[in-house]
Amino acid sequence: MELESSIQYVKGVGPHLARILGQKNITTLEDALYFLPRSYEDRQNFKKIKDLKPGERETSFGVIRRVSLVPMRSRKRQMFIMTLADASGVIQAKWFRFNEQYMHTRYKIGMQVVFTGEVKIFQYQKEITHPDIEVIDDPTKGSLHFGRIVPIYSQTEGLYQKTIRKIVHNALTVGMNDLEDPIPPSIRERQKLLDLKKSFQEVHYPTSFAWIDQARKRLVFDEFFFLELGLALRKKSQTREKTTPFQPSQKLKPEFLKQLPFELTQAQKNAISEIETDLGRPYPMSRLLQGDVGSGKTVVAVLSSLSVLEHGRQIAMMAPTEILAEQHFHNLAPLLLKIGIRACLLKSEIKKSDKSKLLQEIKTGVFQCVFGTHAIIQSEVQFKNLGFVIIDEQHRFGVEQRLQLKKKGETPAGGAPHLLVMTATPIPRTLALTVYGDLDLSVMDELPQGRKPIHTKVVLESQRLKLYDFMKKELAQKKQAYVVYPLIEESEKIDLKDATQMTEHLKTIFKDFRVELIHGRMKSDEKNKIMQAFQRNKIQVLVSTTVIEVGIDVPNSTIMVVEHAERFGLSQLHQLRGRVGRGTDKSYCFLLAHFNSTEESRERLKAMETFQSGFKIAEVDLQLRGPGEFLGKLQSGLGGFRVANIATDAHVLLEARKEAFQLVEKDPAITDPEHAVLKTALKRRWQDKLNLIAAG
Ligand code: ADP
Ligand code: MG
Repeated sequence: MELESSIQYVKGVGPHLARILGQKNITTLEDALYFLPRSYEDRQNFKKIKDLKPGERETSFGVIRRVSLVPMRSRKRQMFIMTLADASGVIQAKWFRFNEQYMHTRYKIGMQVVFTGEVKIFQYQKEITHPDIEVIDDPTKGSLHFGRIVPIYSQTEGLYQKTIRKIVHNALTVGMNDLEDPIPPSIRERQKLLDLKKSFQEVHYPTSFAWIDQARKRLVFDEFFFLELGLALRKKSQTREKTTPFQPSQKLKPEFLKQLPFELTQAQKNAISEIETDLGRPYPMSRLLQGDVGSGKTVVAVLSSLSVLEHGRQIAMMAPTEILAEQHFHNLAPLLLKIGIRACLLKSEIKKSDKSKLLQEIKTGVFQCVFGTHAIIQSEVQFKNLGFVIIDEQHRFGVEQRLQLKKKGETPAGGAPHLLVMTATPIPRTLALTVYGDLDLSVMDELPQGRKPIHTKVVLESQRLKLYDFMKKELAQKKQAYVVYPLIEESEKIDLKDATQMTEHLKTIFKDFRVELIHGRMKSDEKNKIMQAFQRNKIQVLVSTTVIEVGIDVPNSTIMVVEHAERFGLSQLHQLRGRVGRGTDKSYCFLLAHFNSTEESRERLKAMETFQSGFKIAEVDLQLRGPGEFLGKLQSGLGGFRVANIATDAHVLLEARKEAFQLVEKDPAITDPEHAVLKTALKRRWQDKLNLIAAG
């Protein structure tokens, strides 16, 4: 039977059961095979009843001596008791929930049964309640449920262990016939992988405990291998795309550098040279620039784009929020203009008449550089000759959006644009490999000189006034502060009310300073005015909902106060903290938390107090939340894993990636006859995601 055959064709599965299995996402034969046990129970050896230990889960074998219905205290209910015996002793088996008729027809005095369960002592007698029990008609014949290592699956309503075991067993019986191992023998040998059939068999019905790990490892390898193979192919197809190579800028770059008030860090120089090397190749770059908050990614992006501008091609830089797009525009446009490059800002809120003019000027190339939000990827936007696309804070965008923006550049004029995506979300390397598996990676692990650690402290409500005093002192030193409120979507209005009231309250506290509120529902003009006033220190305390979370850069602000810090996730807190400490002055981050905060939030806040580095914070985050949630949207488009766990199976991932990329290097179109089975399997697994490969 084919792996994609409906589960209904497996013996023992009718429409009713198929529906229940569907709730567990088991709809095909393959799904059943990949439905791995959550644990195993050793029922290989039966103990004598005399040797059963109270408090332990034990398996034993005996004869039914007596069955009886006993009324319980409550009178309304009864208990079913079965006395089981062997030569060494007796034990009572008890049921509180049972079908009377079934029990009487199924279990008769004199029958031999195997049973498993937790042994207890009640009134000096051994007993076992609701045991797994099975009548052994023929003790010489093997069973699925006893006399072996038995798989324990996660159960659902209406679907019991024994049923699942039978279904999986039947699935194994029919599934194994046509199953061909897709992983080429050479790789299996090198990686010491079990054969696929054997792996499925051993992972469900192990012949010994030693096999389980090996069998599971093989299945984990499979999952990673096919993912990486897809990514490797996608990457390969990118190198087949043609584009104009750009030599490093000779003129614009030195002119731009002259305007910068600082020296580049070594990490920045390295990143720029990596990008320039890519730009010099005749196929489009796809590179991820990862660097902690404040490491100076923006200037790296701009400097490396100058070679493209120098060759007369356009560049676009997309940011996740309007405030951030504005900031890029306002900081960079003047610097660019000085070297003769005209930049514009494209956002969603523009007057109709202005907009059509702007679109026209982008299309005709009046503007060489376009800053904006996701407004850039709308279909009405056309470029003259887009050559370089920069996506800031990539974690805020999905894979699809990345591809859409890239497509903007597929003009006949000069081939596909180069792509640089930037993120401050530091994710452990193995995760980066799966999430951004088709991208090359540049990491900036250095902050500009003179940055000091940000003093981070959890503050309780009782210490609020002291905090205000401290803030006053800093403000008197001409410094600025952020006060951030959490914004939880369902209650946005209420939160906004909180933030608004807080602003009024803070105005009475900080009488000598200007306090203003900024939030996501404001008109873009209003937001802009406030941000610019804050930038020029016309506003000293900026109260905000999380609209300022990513990217904002006002180096003179040294205090970050987060209200209800227990409601924020770690990466968000790290992003928020990153708004301060961007200059050379000592900076502070105060996390106001409430007593009823949960254990996990305590650990989160503690991690913030302890660690400065985003990478360290990300590790803690991964531990606290597990890979699934941690990845969240990041992983969308790649799908989840059924067997593998990215956090704990990292070493297998690295091996699988190595093998997959090597294979594609040797056999880029997968035409080698040795890879025929592999090719079929690959097509099947990637069928709904093939656009990812094709679109690359
Ligand atoms: P991020 O990596 O978080 O996007 P930015 O690009 O916003 O960081 O840069 C943070 C701040 O550091 C900005 O004010 C920027 O001008 C400044 N900066 C960037 N590079 C350097 C450097 N080499 N030395 C000093 N300051 C720098
Ligand atoms: Mg940034």
